[in-house]
Amino acid sequence: MSNDTIQMTRPSEDFSANAHIDRTRYEELYARSVEDPVGFWAEQGKVLDWIEPYTQVKKTCFDFGRVDIKWYADGVLNVAANCIDRHLARRSLQTAIIFEPDDPDAPAQHITYKELSDKVNRFANVLLSQGIMRGDRVVIYLPMIPEAAYAMLACARIGAIHSIVFAGFSPDALANRINDCGAKLVITADTAPRGGKRTPLKANTDAALLHCSDKVRCLVVKHTGDQISWVQGRDVDVKYLMEHASPDCPPRPMNAEDPLFILYTSGSTGRPKGVVHSSGGYLAYAALTHKYVFDYHDGDIFWCTADVGWVTGHSYIVYGPLANGATTVMFEGVPTYPDAGRFWAVVEKHRVNQFYTAPTALRSLMGQGNDWVETYDLSSLKLLGTVGEPINPEAWNWYNEVVGKGNCPIVDTWWQTETGGHLLTPLPGAIPTKPGSATLPFFGVQPVILDPATGEELTETETEGVLAIRDSWPGQMRTVWGDHERFQETYFQQYKGYYFSGDGCRRDADGYYWITGRVDDVINVSGHRMGTAEVESALVAHAKVAEAAVVGMPHDIKGQGIYAYVTLMNDVEPSDALRAELEKWVRTEIGPIAKPDFIQWAPGLPKTRSGKIMRRILRKIAENDTTSLGDTSTLADPAVVDELIANSMYRK
Ligand code: ATP
Ligand code: MG
Repeated sequence: MSNDTIQMTRPSEDFSANAHIDRTRYEELYARSVEDPVGFWAEQGKVLDWIEPYTQVKKTCFDFGRVDIKWYADGVLNVAANCIDRHLARRSLQTAIIFEPDDPDAPAQHITYKELSDKVNRFANVLLSQGIMRGDRVVIYLPMIPEAAYAMLACARIGAIHSIVFAGFSPDALANRINDCGAKLVITADTAPRGGKRTPLKANTDAALLHCSDKVRCLVVKHTGDQISWVQGRDVDVKYLMEHASPDCPPRPMNAEDPLFILYTSGSTGRPKGVVHSSGGYLAYAALTHKYVFDYHDGDIFWCTADVGWVTGHSYIVYGPLANGATTVMFEGVPTYPDAGRFWAVVEKHRVNQFYTAPTALRSLMGQGNDWVETYDLSSLKLLGTVGEPINPEAWNWYNEVVGKGNCPIVDTWWQTETGGHLLTPLPGAIPTKPGSATLPFFGVQPVILDPATGEELTETETEGVLAIRDSWPGQMRTVWGDHERFQETYFQQYKGYYFSGDGCRRDADGYYWITGRVDDVINVSGHRMGTAEVESALVAHAKVAEAAVVGMPHDIKGQGIYAYVTLMNDVEPSDALRAELEKWVRTEIGPIAKPDFIQWAPGLPKTRSGKIMRRILRKIAENDTTSLGDTSTLADPAVVDELIANSMYRK
């Protein structure tokens, strides 16, 4: 099936009429944004309040060896003041954060902008009392609780650089990150409830700190009250200190280019990198994309289900929404606890208007049946979003019909930790969607498709290659912490003059972009280049398949063969007959060239903590090279890997 024949889904007239951006406006603004980027971004930068307005807008150099990216470089602002103080005049009693705890029977909290201000000021004073100064690094290792947002904004208020480590990471991963960024302080909690279980965060931190400088101090949020050990002189009870701290801490004037945070990428492709984001450009970009991509209007309730440990949580739970004076939902739990209806129960309870989640969550919920969705009143929903991986058309359609009842535009947003905010995405009132396509670029973004071998730009509309971006946008990362070389080598060396995304991409006859997966995931079968995402989507479209991951394997005749790992639906038994049925299915769905050479039944797939399949490990298993699996510190469940190795094609 060719993707181009897929029907476009248009936003309703009603939606477009009320949207910030309709088709005409999109075309006008987009053209302006690439013809006159300086003029365009000079205007858009006004989305923020500046202490000293900028006179320089953009200064970027993409030449290899001298890569240097600056936006609003002489502007001075404070990020926390933009997310809090400037809203107080109008919104002090409006809810800034709705906190929905893991335990469905525990009360939700509604934190107003005034309360947020009070907490963040006190938290900032606690940081100062611990000797944290402008430019110091602070590692945050917290569950999804309001204190995580307070801690981020408190750092921003005093000019400290935060680096959040997802609470699911091990002590080892935590220690590596504390050491890599040279943090002076780590903020953690006693324990973290998630899906009814508790992660011992403080104990993990104790274990991590054994491998760090003994100067690193530890602030502890007593969240559950669970018993923990305490190191006198190093550990500090943050809530106690906040009660006794002053509720006034003047926001520190920061340069637009001062780093706001470091975030280590999830590691599906190798050793984690400390991605550095700026204060001014990053915040402006997060605010604008939040407003236009989700078509956020005053008074809407916005829910992004990501964890603040990922960039999605930074940009679309905390910084983008709060910069816009929005009400943002923070959810401590998981989609399947206490049951597979939790997301929808929360949407109903808080009357959520925009809902943003990942394909992995949708696929897991889709397998549990529609009753879980249909029990709840989802009539508040106006828009749905997805991020993190290519979304299989099967999951897209389910999202559209069962969750959105055909009434909610779906924004499939392609972006990366490195990009700070969305780059390819529909604007919901302007751009008709196609299931599985991230459609068109956001304002100011100039995607190009390059020939992977020659690096030449492929200019025909319909084409396929690697995705790169010409020129810069304000949310772009500025460097890899402590390793500018690595920054240049990773993103600017292979294809000179462009930012290289590492993803493969196809552009269809309508100029729509389709991410085909990471470049490393492209397989070459008898000279035919194929994105693994396409084969996976075909497999997932089969009624008995819950999830699939496809990688290349060495093949004497074809060069590369197709090795597929398949997770079946709950009640389906694996059999040779089913294997043959699936092979035949893929042949008819895509063509004989895509028929898997080997299908391995996989009760579970190796995933990062953010739910992405680690194909790097699956490739090693398919190549029968399991002695060096590389960095596995970000793996959610290491046991899955042993099980797959034991049942691989080579061991059976
Ligand atoms: P690492 O870079 O450490 O290997 P990662 O790439 O998984 O980890 P992220 O920055 O969180 O870390 O993810 C960005 C990647 O996720 C993109 O490069 C792309 O491969 C994939 N991705 C994100 N959104 C989409 C989307 N809407 N459609 C297709 N792919 C997406
Ligand atoms: Mg990446």
